[in-house]
Amino acid sequence: DEAIELAELAKRMGIKANEMIAKLMTLGVMATVNQTIDFETATLVATEFDFDVEKASFEEEALLNHEIDGDDEDKKIGRAPVVTIMGHVDHGKTSLLDVIRKSKITSGEAGGITQHIGAYNVETPNGGRVTFLDTPGHAAFTAMRSRGAQVTDIVILVVAADDGVMPQTIEAINHSKAAGVPVVVAVNKMDKAGADPDRIMRELSELDLLAEEWGGSVIFVKVSAKTGEGIDDLLEMVLLQSEVLELKANPDRKAMGYVVESRLDTGRGAVATVLVKQGTLSDGDPIVCGLYSGRIRAMIDDSGSRIDAAGPSTPVEIIGLSGVPDAGDEFIAVASDKDAKQIAGNRMQKQRAKELAKKSRANLEKMFENL
Ligand code: GDP
Ligand code: MG
Repeated sequence: DEAIELAELAKRMGIKANEMIAKLMTLGVMATVNQTIDFETATLVATEFDFDVEKASFEEEALLNHEIDGDDEDKKIGRAPVVTIMGHVDHGKTSLLDVIRKSKITSGEAGGITQHIGAYNVETPNGGRVTFLDTPGHAAFTAMRSRGAQVTDIVILVVAADDGVMPQTIEAINHSKAAGVPVVVAVNKMDKAGADPDRIMRELSELDLLAEEWGGSVIFVKVSAKTGEGIDDLLEMVLLQSEVLELKANPDRKAMGYVVESRLDTGRGAVATVLVKQGTLSDGDPIVCGLYSGRIRAMIDDSGSRIDAAGPSTPVEIIGLSGVPDAGDEFIAVASDKDAKQIAGNRMQKQRAKELAKKSRANLEKMFENL
């Protein structure tokens, strides 16, 4: 149905028709100047020239933008900081996440067993809230960032008081710096005999992380994941750091955010844990998520309860997507199922075109190798 004349397409892209014919040939399509080419082929060849093609009758941006517009500053209210724990192996990342989750999640649910959904929200002693991403480590952080997802607001850098700064400590600092995310240092394992927090402060000061008590601006908190010492303090300090950032979001709009984790569940189909960044995600909302679309059929919070609505900084497991998105993919609630399907369909088509182009390039290279 959708088609365009080769000459017209070349003109619109500002390239010579001959170049386009040659490019099509490398893609295995023989065409002449006057020939009409279909949308898929047009997308394919345009992608090869680094163009982004959309059907004239369909503009993804138009469908999405009205959701992003109307973000009145005065509608924004404070939101919980989203925190990732990083640090050298064995310095206590997992132990810290565990002790925070166990002591802080409101466990009203049966047996106090909390369902694991990849992120959780805790209440601090003074009533503030902090959201933790349950995947410690640098790989997750960089994978998200490489997909353009800025999920983390604050990094807790864990350094074992009896071990000091190690290679992955430095790596974590570099990742945080590159992302422009502030660091709160948790000097862990304070219960151990060899704990030497001053040494940690000294070593980190050489890496531009100067402690507040030494005249710098970095918050250091002494903790022990084993005894629980300093954990409440750590949470309060994270909140203090987040106040400086003035993290705000407008809960009164359609939701957007990012996928934190995803999987295919035999019974429930595609399951994704998402973190709402803006707006409020509600049961029944049509959404687009990466290459997939759907309608929220159920939402489950970090304590395993079904909920109807999830506001900013709330991690929630969603069911109802047509496929399994990748961690770091953006999700956005849209006006209708039709819009959702159209946007996802268009993205899928582009993705296929890219893959096809890659394949034909590889085939061609193989062909030449075999000559
Ligand atoms: P990760 O590799 O950074 O996730 O570190 P883990 O949380 O797996 O901890 C590594 C080891 O250190 C485990 O044996 C923990 O039990 C231990 N550990 C973690 N935190 C503490 C602490 O505060 N005190 C003591 N004594 N041991 C700890
Ligand atoms: Mg670990």
